[in-house]
Amino acid sequence: MAKGGKLIVFSAPSGSGKTTIVQHLLKQEDLNLEFSVSATSRKPRGDEQHGREYYFLSLSDFKSHMKKDDFLEWEEVYRDNFYGTLNSEIERIWAMGKNVIFDIDVVGGLRIKRKFPERTLAVFVKPPSVEELKIRLKKRKTESDEKINVRIAKASVEMATAPRFDQVILNDTLDHALSEASKLVASHIAKPLKNPTALNRPYSNSEE
Ligand code: ADP
Ligand code: 5GP
Repeated sequence: MAKGGKLIVFSAPSGSGKTTIVQHLLKQEDLNLEFSVSATSRKPRGDEQHGREYYFLSLSDFKSHMKKDDFLEWEEVYRDNFYGTLNSEIERIWAMGKNVIFDIDVVGGLRIKRKFPERTLAVFVKPPSVEELKIRLKKRKTESDEKINVRIAKASVEMATAPRFDQVILNDTLDHALSEASKLVASHIAKPLKNPTALNRPYSNSEE
C-alpha cells in the first residue's frame, strides 16, 4: 500500500453499538485495519488500559497538545471531557501499511471526512430508537444514571447529523449490522484512490 491507507470512521450516539461493530471489523484480517487510539482527559473505566482503549492524559497535558496543534481533530464531547485524534496516531498506523478505523463522536467523524474526503468512509450507526439506546446503556452498566441521562440528552442532536455521513447502518439486529458494516468497509478498501500520491496535510480544528 502506498503511504497513507484508507480511513474508516464509525460515529453514533453513545450506546448505538459502534464499539461492538468496530471490534468485530478489527478481527477481520483481510480488512487490514488498525484502531485509532484517541487521547482523552477522562479517567479510565473498568479494565481500560492506557494505549489500548485510549491514551489517558491529564487535562493540562491534553491542552498542551491542543496548543501545539498536535491533533487532527479534538472535541469537548462532554463537559470537561476532551477527546482527540493525535496526528502521530495516523502516522503510526499508516507507517504499518494499515487502514485506520475510528470510533469517534459525530463532530469529529465529519471533520475527518472533510479533511480526507476521498480516503474516508464515514459511517453513522443508528439505534432503533432513543428509548432503546437508554436500555442498552443501562444494560452495559458502565455509566451512572446521571451520565446516561447526559448521553441520552445529546443523542437527538447527534441523530440529526446522520444524513451528512456517507452511509447509515441501522443497528437493530446485531448480526445484520455486522454483516452490513463488513460489506461497506470491504468495498471502500477495495476502491482505488484517484490520486494516491496526493496526501492531504493534516491540519487542526483552529484552521477551519
Ligand atoms: P457505543 O460504542 O456506540 O457506545 P456499544 O458497542 O458499547 O456502543 O454498545 C452499547 C451496548 O449495547 C453494549 O452493551 C452492546 O453489547 C449492546 N449492543 C450493541 N448492539 C446491540 C444490538 N444490535 N442489540 C442489542 N444490544 C446491542
Ligand atoms: P467514551 O467516554 O464512551 O469512551 O466516549 C465518549 C464519546 O467520545 C464517544 O462518542 C466516542 O466515540 C467519542 N470519542 C472517542 N475518541 C474520540 C476522538 O478522538 N475524537 C472525538 N471527536 N470523539 C471521540
